[in-house]
Amino acid sequence: MNPKTRLLTPGPTPLPEKVRLALAQDMIHHRKAAFQGHMQRVQTGLKELFWTSEPVLPLTCSGSGAMEAAVTNLFQPGDRVLVVEGGKFGQRWRQICERYGLEVEPLQVEWGCGADPAAVAKRLSADGPFQGLLVQASETSTGVLHPIRDLAQALQGHETLLVVDGISAVGVSPCPMDAWGIDCLLTGSQKGLMLPPGMALLSLSQRAWRRVEANPRPPFYFNLLGERQRNAGNQTLYTSPVSHIFGLEACLELVLESGLESLYRSQWALTHMARAGIEAMGLSLLVRDCYTWGLTSVRLPEDIDGQEVLSLAASEYGAVLAGGQDHLKGRIVRLGHMGYVDWGDVLAGLSALGRSCQRLGATIDLQAGLAAGLAAYEHELSTFTLENHTQPLAP
Ligand SMILES: *Cc1c(COP(=O)(O)O)cnc(C)c1O
Repeated sequence: MNPKTRLLTPGPTPLPEKVRLALAQDMIHHRKAAFQGHMQRVQTGLKELFWTSEPVLPLTCSGSGAMEAAVTNLFQPGDRVLVVEGGKFGQRWRQICERYGLEVEPLQVEWGCGADPAAVAKRLSADGPFQGLLVQASETSTGVLHPIRDLAQALQGHETLLVVDGISAVGVSPCPMDAWGIDCLLTGSQKGLMLPPGMALLSLSQRAWRRVEANPRPPFYFNLLGERQRNAGNQTLYTSPVSHIFGLEACLELVLESGLESLYRSQWALTHMARAGIEAMGLSLLVRDCYTWGLTSVRLPEDIDGQEVLSLAASEYGAVLAGGQDHLKGRIVRLGHMGYVDWGDVLAGLSALGRSCQRLGATIDLQAGLAAGLAAYEHELSTFTLENHTQPLAP
């Protein structure tokens, strides 16, 4: 018999049974009262998850669709935007903006490092004004958490909209939209939300809505004004992603039942479990300081091929891990631990990674790695406080 498969990638992520059962329900019509009831409950939960009082709009697309919707609704050709570019997904912001004729000023950040708020402040005063700053909360290609709160602080007093791709952050690490003054926060269904790929969620601040209202040429499919209008009646502009809404309702029930603090505590502790385990077994971490939650990038020894590690981990131990992209291809392994993942899964991931590297010739102290991982997990679980990660902006 083959080993049990564990999906330990930074999206898609495993589905809890409650979500899978919700997804299995028969179809209902998206313009009838029953569906509106589901939408209303989902809307209440989403506002809590996004920490906002604005509507959170479901869109039928993968996460990149919501990124495109943000760009096409908020900006116009010729608008000048700053784009934080420190990985694959930062590049995607730039590509979308360029496709729609925006003037992109890239803020280059070394892959594996976080954006520097002081550098942003400098660019704003030297080359501004900018209509927007586009950034990832979590740059999934490297495993970096950009300092969203400090970037928001740097933008205070400017007309620059803060547009945040939170695709691998919402439901993984706190990103309080209203308290931090985020103008656009978006995510996809297949990462922290424990749903299949295919739906995105997007919310805008009031001043971002004013930009959308002033847009003379709004897009047809990703028409956010139309979506907001429909959302007020608990519907979507076109046929709704009905099964995803069922699944999302179940996910929000799971998460909000035990509370957001408990969710973030667990994601934080698992992140530290992975990091401590990897270092103690003798592998090195790609990201030192500004590490994200929910995934850990591991730098492989020079003579070990990442593709072979991934194959061995999957075939021998059932652990499905992710590799690197571009110049990091074959050089790093990304261990995903976001969504419906617990300490047992991370233990399995660490074991599979460590043993696979060992079998390919690396010097690994597996026992030390697993012990250190578990110790870090227990320590961080008992010392975590949410307030340390959700400090409001200084006035
Ligand atoms: C996964 C991911 C995306 C891409 O989302 P798709 O659903 O593949 O379109 C974009 N940004 C970040 C930060 C991601 O993690």
